[in-house]
Amino acid sequence: MSKSPIYDVIVVGAGPAGYSSAIRCAQLGLKTACIDNWRNKQGQRILGGAHLNSGCVASITLLESAKLYHALNHDLKKHGIHAENISVDIAAMIDHKDTIIDALGHRITELFNHHKIDSIHATAKLLNARQIRISPVDGSETSVVEAKHIILATGSSPMQLPYAKVDNEFIVDSFAALNMTTLPKKLAIIGAGVIGLELASIWSRLGSETILLEAQESFLSLPDQQISREAYRIYTQQGFDLRLGARVTAAKKGSKKVTVEYQDQEGSHSLRVDKLIVASGRKPNTENLAAPEANLLLDENGYVYVDENCRTNLPGVYAIGDLNLLGPMLAHKGIEEGVFVAEQIAGRHSTINYDTLPSVIYTDPEIAWVGQTEQALRAMGEPIKIGIFPFHATARAHASDRTEGLIKLIAHADSDALLGVHIIGVQASELIAEAVLAMEFSASSEDFARTIHAHPTRSEAFHEAALAFKKKTLHIPN
Ligand code: NAD
Repeated sequence: MSKSPIYDVIVVGAGPAGYSSAIRCAQLGLKTACIDNWRNKQGQRILGGAHLNSGCVASITLLESAKLYHALNHDLKKHGIHAENISVDIAAMIDHKDTIIDALGHRITELFNHHKIDSIHATAKLLNARQIRISPVDGSETSVVEAKHIILATGSSPMQLPYAKVDNEFIVDSFAALNMTTLPKKLAIIGAGVIGLELASIWSRLGSETILLEAQESFLSLPDQQISREAYRIYTQQGFDLRLGARVTAAKKGSKKVTVEYQDQEGSHSLRVDKLIVASGRKPNTENLAAPEANLLLDENGYVYVDENCRTNLPGVYAIGDLNLLGPMLAHKGIEEGVFVAEQIAGRHSTINYDTLPSVIYTDPEIAWVGQTEQALRAMGEPIKIGIFPFHATARAHASDRTEGLIKLIAHADSDALLGVHIIGVQASELIAEAVLAMEFSASSEDFARTIHAHPTRSEAFHEAALAFKKKTLHIPN
């Protein structure tokens, strides 16, 4: 085993949390290395981690293609546009997605080169608070690298179910579900959580009959429940076969089909489908991350114990992104923590505000929110007032022929401070940015009501929802 020079910082993992952290460290003058072992389908090195290569970016790229195909098939006629013989080549669509994510991954390599970050293609194992053993992906000799600070950012991977063993041919995980090159005629998905719904949006738009089997009796427990109810209505109208209270107990592959067994209140059921996607949650990638003698403290689910500054129990070792439980598994949460930790290490003052962290579900229409839900605030006994405005009352929604959804503002009944903003609708992921900024600046509903919004836009619904508090809305919402 050879030894290499001491770095100020070694970042383990080049997903959004890791690459942002490495770049910020380098910008702050710290000698930085980043170790990552991801390989693309051709076995080549690519940065960006699961988020770029097999998660949100890959998913949203396919969703955009699927939306386009769906619109060409269903929405052109009413615009007076005629198109014939529209067909889809799924393999070419997947290639297009791969081209995009490869280009974005190479952009991260360019940023690393620009910032003189040593990029090491290897699997890392934490030996102690200052040393990491690296096993190069090309099989060359292992070595030990040292740093004054270590940032763990290895992300998460799909959870396996013992009764639905993934073979990535018939029973596929959420990664392989973004790489299917033929259209499954009938598709079942275990889990109607964020990933299950995003994958359902892609494949149902491309033409698969899509059945979602969700163990919970209630639908989407994280967002505001009014939004979840609206989402349920819209998705089922779009053709999702959403079966709640349906717990999958077994899945077996035959020669060409998968048989899925599930139980609900009415008893046991069996379903035969062409493919089964397992989207039943993710787990942090901490298996084999640290040698036992390193004594890195994990909880019973494998998350790394950290304090509010992302510091682990080992001095100088941090864990960010999906590895800790300081917030949900979201790329932008990891990015912020990456920057936050880099600034701490460089001795800069830095803060992170988890209260204004936006959440997005990239379905069509999208769901996005920031702050507290109505049910959480009521449970806390907070006096609140609610302003709601549906998109169908805006001219822009009609112009684009996408009128579904609404914006819901929740403010404190006495102080008028905004406490939560919830959106379901086209471009909710973009619209939420205005609400995040407003809450970051401690805005009131009055601020929204007095802010001039361009007409005609979807963002006018913010203005109108704020006016709705005072029953001064200018448009007729129903
Ligand atoms: P999830 O926890 O959101 O959903 C998994 C669902 O599977 C749950 O509702 C659970 O009840 C159900 N389930 C589990 N076992 C089952 C069984 N045997 N039968 C039927 N249903 C079963 O997990 P996910 O959708 O895999 O997402 C994982 C994480 O990744 C989440 O924290 C999510 O926030 C994050 N993520 C976020 C985004 C985004 O921000 N757009 C995208 C992808 C993932």
